[in-house]
Amino acid sequence: MGMNRRQFLKAGLLGTTSALVGGSALGGPLGGLASAAPLAFPAPVYRTLGRTGMKITVVSFGAMLTPEPEVLRVAFDHGLNYVDTARGYMGGRNEEIVGKALKGVRDKVFVATKTPSRSKEDIFRDVETSLKSLGTDRIDVLQLHSLKNRKRVYDPETREALARLKEQGKVRFFGVTTHSGQAEVLDALVEDRDRFFDVALVAYNFTSGRDIAEAIGRAARSGIGIVAMKTQAGGYVTEAEGAVSPHQAALKWVLRNPDVAAAIPGMRDMSELKEDVAVMGMPFRQADERTLRRYGTAIRPYYCHLCGECEGACPKGVEISTINRCLMYADGYRELRLARSVYRAIPAGASASACLDCAACAARCVRGLDIPAKMKRAGKVLA
Ligand code: SF4
Ligand code: SF4
Repeated sequence: MGMNRRQFLKAGLLGTTSALVGGSALGGPLGGLASAAPLAFPAPVYRTLGRTGMKITVVSFGAMLTPEPEVLRVAFDHGLNYVDTARGYMGGRNEEIVGKALKGVRDKVFVATKTPSRSKEDIFRDVETSLKSLGTDRIDVLQLHSLKNRKRVYDPETREALARLKEQGKVRFFGVTTHSGQAEVLDALVEDRDRFFDVALVAYNFTSGRDIAEAIGRAARSGIGIVAMKTQAGGYVTEAEGAVSPHQAALKWVLRNPDVAAAIPGMRDMSELKEDVAVMGMPFRQADERTLRRYGTAIRPYYCHLCGECEGACPKGVEISTINRCLMYADGYRELRLARSVYRAIPAGASASACLDCAACAARCVRGLDIPAKMKRAGKVLA
């Protein structure tokens, strides 16, 4: 039977193996269009993206998992006006998909993409490729991809390259993305006297610690536009409760924080698009709190907060949080190819294979996750 994340299983959270097995049962990207109910889009709700001044829809489009431009195009045609992609997603194909969806509506949509590069030449090359793939002459927000600490925020060669791109009119604003070490990265942006970066894309959801919310608050008050990702805590499939799904409740939880300008849930198909945009303008209610409590309990054994706090204790420098993120892509998003491509980018000595000859794991998870079991599973599923 076909199943998407809006159709939940009575049995509760799917086991990790069955989540993988059931991964492709999404029924096709336009399934929601062809079937029953007509697409009812709520009126777009906008917030200002910090000092960029851009007014963007509170539910914006995370394109990372979207295989068809038509899904993006429906969103754009109904007013969603901010899309986030990256050079690396789908081996470069994701920017092309976004580019196809932007044809004829480029001026109505703000485009954010990313570069993982450090050297000037590589950054220039990345941006040229992105512009070509996106079919545009400018990127609205170019983000340094996946920062873990403050070092790259202040890297002079990177800044020189970015400043040049701005002079050339190829990039309007700069941002960073971060999954771990988030508070340090956000504070580095706040403390920067040059106010070089205007946007931060952060992992933020109902399971996030207070330290993240406080760092987001400091950044927002200093004019940084905050965009939230990982808003549904892994997108694990779990059982239904009431009219509002756990993923909708999670999205509402994020958007009730006025320091967040927008969330960018990943939307693969029409049914996920419908589910997420429906949240625009909805208040967060007590029932949502209850839904999230149940969802939080269900995902607790699986969901890594990517805080990186366990990593210092590992003598081999294993990138535990990144490996766990890959497992989340595999088990939560049911995107094994993406999981494996991110996993392959981890330096050999820092992957789960380093755990094979480790007699006893010295790393401890502050949230109680079984790290050795996770590393073992990563070695099996991702390598
Ligand atoms: S088992 Fe634990 S301590 Fe040993 S290498 Fe792996 S993560 Fe590090
Ligand atoms: S395993 Fe635990 S301590 Fe390590 S990054 Fe994940 S949540 Fe943080």
